[in-house]
Amino acid sequence: MYKANRNFSLVSESYLFSTIARRVDAYKAAHPEADIIRLGIGDVTRPLCQAAVEALKAAADAQADANTFTGYGPEQGHRFLIDAIIEGDYRSRGIEIDLSEVFVSDGAKSDIGNIGDILSVDNVVAITDPVYPVYLDTNIMAGRRVMLLDCLEANGFRPSLPSGQAPDIIYLCYPNNPTGTSLTRAELKMWVDYALANGCLILFDSAYEAYITRDDVPHSIYEIEGARRCAIEFRSFSKTAGFTGLRCGYTVVPRELTDADGTRLNDLWRRRQCTKFNGASVVVQHAAAALYTAEGRRQVRADIGYYMANAGVIRQGLSELGFNVYGGVDSPYVWAKAPVAIDSWQLFDLLLERCNVVVTPGVGFGKCGEGYIRLTSFNSHQKTREAINRIKSLNFNNITI
Ligand SMILES: *Cc1c(COP(=O)(O)O)cnc(C)c1O
Repeated sequence: MYKANRNFSLVSESYLFSTIARRVDAYKAAHPEADIIRLGIGDVTRPLCQAAVEALKAAADAQADANTFTGYGPEQGHRFLIDAIIEGDYRSRGIEIDLSEVFVSDGAKSDIGNIGDILSVDNVVAITDPVYPVYLDTNIMAGRRVMLLDCLEANGFRPSLPSGQAPDIIYLCYPNNPTGTSLTRAELKMWVDYALANGCLILFDSAYEAYITRDDVPHSIYEIEGARRCAIEFRSFSKTAGFTGLRCGYTVVPRELTDADGTRLNDLWRRRQCTKFNGASVVVQHAAAALYTAEGRRQVRADIGYYMANAGVIRQGLSELGFNVYGGVDSPYVWAKAPVAIDSWQLFDLLLERCNVVVTPGVGFGKCGEGYIRLTSFNSHQKTREAINRIKSLNFNNITI
């Protein structure tokens, strides 16, 4: 008799955002007149930029012409996009990446989940708490041992280096989801130095790179000396350019990365992708390449500026209310703790019921998120201001739970 992968039963049963959706739906069913504002889920709301849409249309038209029709493409991505990535995201920052090191995909979540295919299940994995659930769940599914790195108010939600036995693999995500915090070059260098000294592999999730505003925050881990010898970087066009529906991202696997026996991770990942991944749609890759044109860049910057103005409104409004507020400077996320003793789900319920505002309970990202909520800037200026005004009408000195 066959056996299913029992590790899956160890993953928490319900996905956080399904739980939230169920609670919001139940509230709406009971209060059909409620005007609900969503600052919860991490999905963009601005439409695709014009440069991407035009490239999509042109690429679709090209498929109707026998001379330009594209059949199966290279699984690791088309050259026109890889060249644009290398120039736009790396060479322009003084980083040399070879075209054999860039792997275009349908987004960062798949690559982050699939990278485990080329890594032994014996590896011990270090993951921050709170965390983007994909790192934790995919490693539980694979049966790996996980070590949690607590991120607390005391360390500004930036993890300390592991004490004792070093992990084999370390997931880092900066700017961070959910806390919105970022690492400076010096802080990231501490992790690179630690990884090099202890033979660790860093899996660096750079999904929010486009939101960085501070000069001393690196846009790529390869800005740090030695990172090519210890880090894989995941990038996504989802939050950068509203590709959450279109789907495209990429992963950089430097050729210097070799395991304890000298096996090259780049070779394994290429083999893995060629065997198990179909590649991203050529039409979508043209849309992604358009983001690197002067027009595309300008349009993407404008959309990010729009969201960051919302992040400022959320930060300021909650600070004035006496919340402890993190993030929202290099990130579309604001991470906040109320000025009263209230847990994450209580605060979620309070804001849903009294303000009709949906947020994400911090504890859903890990035990260290208890007491916090995550708010996103992915809404209109008008709705964001309205949500903050509603929250401001609550008197936190006089809340009874
Ligand atoms: C949204 C997100 C991703 C990416 O997503 P894709 O849409 O799969 O490219 C990756 N990491 C983090 C931390 C995210 O929040």
